[in-house]
Amino acid sequence: MSKVLIIGAGGVGNVVVKKCAREPEVFSEILLASRTKSKCDKIAQETGSDHVKTAQVDADNASEVSALIREFQPEMVINVALPYQDLPIMDACLETGVHYLDTANYEPKDVAKFEYSWQWAYKDKFEKAGIMALLGCGFDPGVTGIFTAYALKHHFDEIHYLDIVDCNAGDHGKAFATNFNPEINIREITQKGKYYHNGQWVEIEPMSVHQPIDYPGIGPKESYLLYHEELESLVKNIPTIKRARFWMTFGQSYITHLQVLQNVGMTSIEPIQFKGVDIVPLEFLKALLPEPSSLGENYSGETSIGCQIKGIKDGKERTYFIWNNCKHQDAWNDVQGQGIAYTTGVPAMLGAKMMLTGKWMKPGVWNVEDFDPDPFLAELGHYGLPWHEKVDAKLAFNDYE
Ligand code: NDP
Repeated sequence: MSKVLIIGAGGVGNVVVKKCAREPEVFSEILLASRTKSKCDKIAQETGSDHVKTAQVDADNASEVSALIREFQPEMVINVALPYQDLPIMDACLETGVHYLDTANYEPKDVAKFEYSWQWAYKDKFEKAGIMALLGCGFDPGVTGIFTAYALKHHFDEIHYLDIVDCNAGDHGKAFATNFNPEINIREITQKGKYYHNGQWVEIEPMSVHQPIDYPGIGPKESYLLYHEELESLVKNIPTIKRARFWMTFGQSYITHLQVLQNVGMTSIEPIQFKGVDIVPLEFLKALLPEPSSLGENYSGETSIGCQIKGIKDGKERTYFIWNNCKHQDAWNDVQGQGIAYTTGVPAMLGAKMMLTGKWMKPGVWNVEDFDPDPFLAELGHYGLPWHEKVDAKLAFNDYE
């Protein structure tokens, strides 16, 4: 029985709160806090539970978060606000001695760059304070790291090649919208792509490498090589990996919209003067686009995210595929959310449950693959994300050397 503070009342926050509220024997009291309290109140009311309370907080301000923690006295904080808030919230956790979990690594606001170094630098401090931080416990990062750890534990002596394949074959009916926070999403896609090969990071122009990948139950979809943060922790934690890449699908209409917006400067994070006021074009664009949490009701189709792996077992080459498919309508029926928020929020709730029940608990700052994948994957299907695996799978790639 533990109290939990959840920060962020967007698409993902909606899922985490509703899933936690249904597990009162683990999350006995929930405080949902965010920048806009009315969004917290709406979610809390929809849970129909009287053990969900709400508060207003500016999580860019560590002392405001510390004050809220002191008042509510939670066991842990689940951070599903934006990556910009990771460090202030971790500072507040350190100051007050409570555990921490997030789903996306820290990004400074003024540079579109995401890497674990800033958060990994807190490891000694968290260890000394006797508290734990679990980084990147959504789907990707999150379940993709847990899938890889499971593959290594049960099917490989050494993993050599890892391709994470992420497809959203959904249709929300809008001309252009992003499935999670537009600012973070567009920053991720418009920066250079990067993959790991033989100990080096290889950089490529944005969206310049692509190929069709056949997704289970969906079929072939054009998929683009992007940099994604779990690659950084996985190649560090599994040093036998020779090559690690991340692929994501985008429809032609999405790419055309993005190109136009980029060409006219709307995706820039450099402030410009407009009528005497400094505005950041990407922040302004975010204000115009649909909120990710609003996309769920008429969203059809499904997501498919998994890991295609090649390596060695008992001296022989082996291929392996592990994946989950999630229908947007199932997410809507369960929590009035869409599939991307659902596939992020369910693992965040389950990661928190692993911590609070002591299955995953050690002081320090950790990534998901640092823990035993079995108890997590034993429960993932039960919470709405069933997964599948295939040994000797036919992989989407033929470029192994
Ligand atoms: P949304 O934009 O829908 O929600 C973000 C929420 O954070 C909003 O409620 C927002 O408040 C709140 N917030 C923003 N700034 C502050 C602040 N300074 N203080 C307090 N609250 C603040 O985003 P999503 O729900 O789509 O994404 C949430 C997180 O999940 C992001 O970090 C995203 O990168 C991550 N993510 C991870 C994935 C994974 O698989 N690992 C996949 C998808 C997302 P307001 O309502 O006032 O704007």
